[in-house]
Amino acid sequence: MKLSIANNTSVKEQNLRVILNLIRAAGRISRAEISRQTGLSRSTVSELVGFLLRQGIIEEAGTGDSLGGRRPILLEIRARGRLIGAVHVDDDGSLYGHTEDLAGNRFKTGRAHARKPEELVLGIWELLKELTDGDIDRLASIGLALPGVISPQGGILSAVNLGWNNVPVAEPLRRRLGIPVRAENATGLAAYGEMSARGFDVHNLVYLRIGSVVGSGIITNNQLHRGLRGSAAEIGHMVLDAGGELCKCGRKGCLETRVCRRAALRLLVDHDAERDHSSLNLGNIFEYLVGRDEQGDRIAQRVIADIASSTASAIVNVLNILGPDTVVIESVLCDSSTFWSVLTGTTAKEALPFAEGKYQLLPSSLGKEAVVVGAMAYATRLFYEHSQIPTVGI
Ligand SMILES: [Zn+2]
Repeated sequence: MKLSIANNTSVKEQNLRVILNLIRAAGRISRAEISRQTGLSRSTVSELVGFLLRQGIIEEAGTGDSLGGRRPILLEIRARGRLIGAVHVDDDGSLYGHTEDLAGNRFKTGRAHARKPEELVLGIWELLKELTDGDIDRLASIGLALPGVISPQGGILSAVNLGWNNVPVAEPLRRRLGIPVRAENATGLAAYGEMSARGFDVHNLVYLRIGSVVGSGIITNNQLHRGLRGSAAEIGHMVLDAGGELCKCGRKGCLETRVCRRAALRLLVDHDAERDHSSLNLGNIFEYLVGRDEQGDRIAQRVIADIASSTASAIVNVLNILGPDTVVIESVLCDSSTFWSVLTGTTAKEALPFAEGKYQLLPSSLGKEAVVVGAMAYATRLFYEHSQIPTVGI
């Protein structure tokens, strides 16, 4: 029973978003035209439009040309009303904020910094105030992308890079503003951003970011997978070689030890001990390899192929266990043709037959923007969830 209610709600949410997107794209449009373009029945359109009007998300804006009968009433987004807010708290305490109106138009972006955990909530508050032109009550919902392990209440349980533990974040903001505020791990929200950028066909997505470390996020049936303690989706610590390099997690042979920037430096030295690599460091090794690959450098290509092959092994495990429809990779290495061909070729070869043709493996379309796009999409969804979506008639 619960399942059918959940599915029903998600169909309504989807229809609402289709209608909203159509109104956004058209600028002004009549109910009849929405019905014609979406294929939804007139009564469904009428009910959903009524809901959006009551919520103050859209408004009636004059009449259009008559096609024989009465002149149709046109609808448009009430864009200057409420705002959705998103803030990304990065690993170094930098805050990146973003506000959008309900029509999806960017309102403002801004930056701030929190030097210590006690400054975080106030820093987010001040930033959001600035991004709402001083009128923070215009916010309808907020999505927060935080580093580390996040508690169910939306606080930072542990952010290793910052050395912050047990910092309440969403709760004090929620109490003060009285609107939906939710916090999630930033990489999880990057996965959410990649999903939302790919339309309605993607529902189960695995996101891998390969850089100095391996970050990952898992979306299952449009929901972030957190696990019991909010620390799930650590694909970077999937053991691929039990006798391999020691990982910072204390075990040996994790994916991260085979594909991160440090691994690339090590592999390069292993494959080419003769050459002087002293100009290379963790900050430029991937970029160097991609550049050398373009010039046909065999050693760079071997290093990249090694990394791609380890990444493919992890992806195959993920495909076999989770069966996602989409796997997205975010890395400088995606610009390398060797990386991409070895990655896709090895994954296709090693995946179990039932996975064949059932998944798409794609480079990130959003890059570093994915986190803030995800936090914004998440906050928008939060707004709809809390807006009493009607439950009959569809
Ligand atoms: Zn590990």
